[in-house]
Amino acid sequence: MNEIQGAIKKGLDDWQQEGVDPVATAAVHRSITTANAAHRRSTFLMGVAISRSPDFTERAAVAILDDLAPIFSNAAGNITSDLVGTLVTLSVASSQAHYENLSFGGQAINVVPAAIRTEEEIAQAFESVPFGGRLLQEWVESSFSENIIASCKADVVKGMLNGRSYDQLAKKISERMVTTRGQLDTICRTFCQTCSNDALQALYRANGDIIQQWQWSSARLPSVCPSCIALDGTVWPMGSGPSIPLHPRCRCAALPYQPSFSKLGLSPHTELETPGAINLNETSAQWLMRQDDKTITSVVGPNRLALLKTGTVEFPDLLSREDYRMKKLDDLLAGHPEGTLAKAKEVVFGKPPRRASASTIKRRYRRLNP
Ligand SMILES: [Zn+2]
Repeated sequence: MNEIQGAIKKGLDDWQQEGVDPVATAAVHRSITTANAAHRRSTFLMGVAISRSPDFTERAAVAILDDLAPIFSNAAGNITSDLVGTLVTLSVASSQAHYENLSFGGQAINVVPAAIRTEEEIAQAFESVPFGGRLLQEWVESSFSENIIASCKADVVKGMLNGRSYDQLAKKISERMVTTRGQLDTICRTFCQTCSNDALQALYRANGDIIQQWQWSSARLPSVCPSCIALDGTVWPMGSGPSIPLHPRCRCAALPYQPSFSKLGLSPHTELETPGAINLNETSAQWLMRQDDKTITSVVGPNRLALLKTGTVEFPDLLSREDYRMKKLDDLLAGHPEGTLAKAKEVVFGKPPRRASASTIKRRYRRLNP
């Protein structure tokens, strides 16, 4: 195993836990506090509106929702600008942390830091560069205006709330708030992750002469999605390969592939910090296959577990090379004789219990209830 790579991996994992995660958690907390304040204010204003027009008509309900819309769009604006501020700070800190890590605190003399971007440039990048087809502001707004106001309006117009009361409308808004809180959590965490990854990519670009390949590195936990587990350990030329984050809340990182002491400009006698518990000799997929059946099932489900256990498919086969998602079961079984899955399940889980026939059940029932 490449000792240097293990040490860099340890540094990346540490930065994830001590740098990115706490910042993301704080951002989630602040955004949800802002969203909750908007929710309280909307509930209050709805109470006022009810006292003015006690009859629940479609028109009155839509008018109230229109009145409430600015409260939520203001909250969306505040959450966006707060998050951009967080990302600017995190971006600067990430650049520094990644440089420290890759250069082993400046000992690796060939490693140069990435060009420093101004805070305005970083903010601009997050405000104007789309992620997953949407801008940051659009992500935040969609969790409010589309989710809360627009969907409640649609419910009123569709008649789902017709003939009901304002209480129903208030309840509907509360229900939508639950989704919104979840979405805000995902948005904050995913953008913080993107921020750290962007800083890492900028550092690799600045050091293109020493880093020409990168290796997918996922956390070694059963909570990691199966696609990321299958990608772990795969090696790609710089600037190609699936993009990280692969999906919302993805916590994977790009590891420089087997950099050498001499390339980095380190003395062969440099003492590297122990790489920690992560063993890079095995991939996350190999690690997962050493776990108990319950753990593997929690990641891939019982059908894929059976196919993996009987050697019908290998873990990397589970991944589609086109979109880097899990292949459908039918696609996995294509080319295998019919009954492959049933046979594999029988080997792994034993014969399924025979279901009693209707007449047997009737007989048993009569015996128990003479
Ligand atoms: Zn991932």
